[in-house]
Amino acid sequence: MNIQVKLETMQIQIEHTNSNSSCCENYQLCYLCQQHFERKEASVILCDDQGNNCGEACTHCIAKGYSWMHNQFQQLNYQINLSVNRESNELIKV
Ligand SMILES: [Zn+2]
Repeated sequence: MNIQVKLETMQIQIEHTNSNSSCCENYQLCYLCQQHFERKEASVILCDDQGNNCGEACTHCIAKGYSWMHNQFQQLNYQINLSVNRESNELIKV
């Protein structure tokens, strides 16, 4: 019996932010390191393999390279899956 594990794949979208929106808050929460950062002229958006928008990445994380970002992205998704499983287990016990 073969067990296939499908790893989450990460897609990166780069969007140029509107320079007209300088009146709005330019601070965003980085999905990878959970730190607030100031958005520059372009924002890097992380998507999963189904194209769902997961969040943005800060310049510090981008500087660490795509492989680090992909690894961090997979760990975050793995932790989310674990927490969901724990919640479902607790519901079964109750
Ligand atoms: Zn970051």
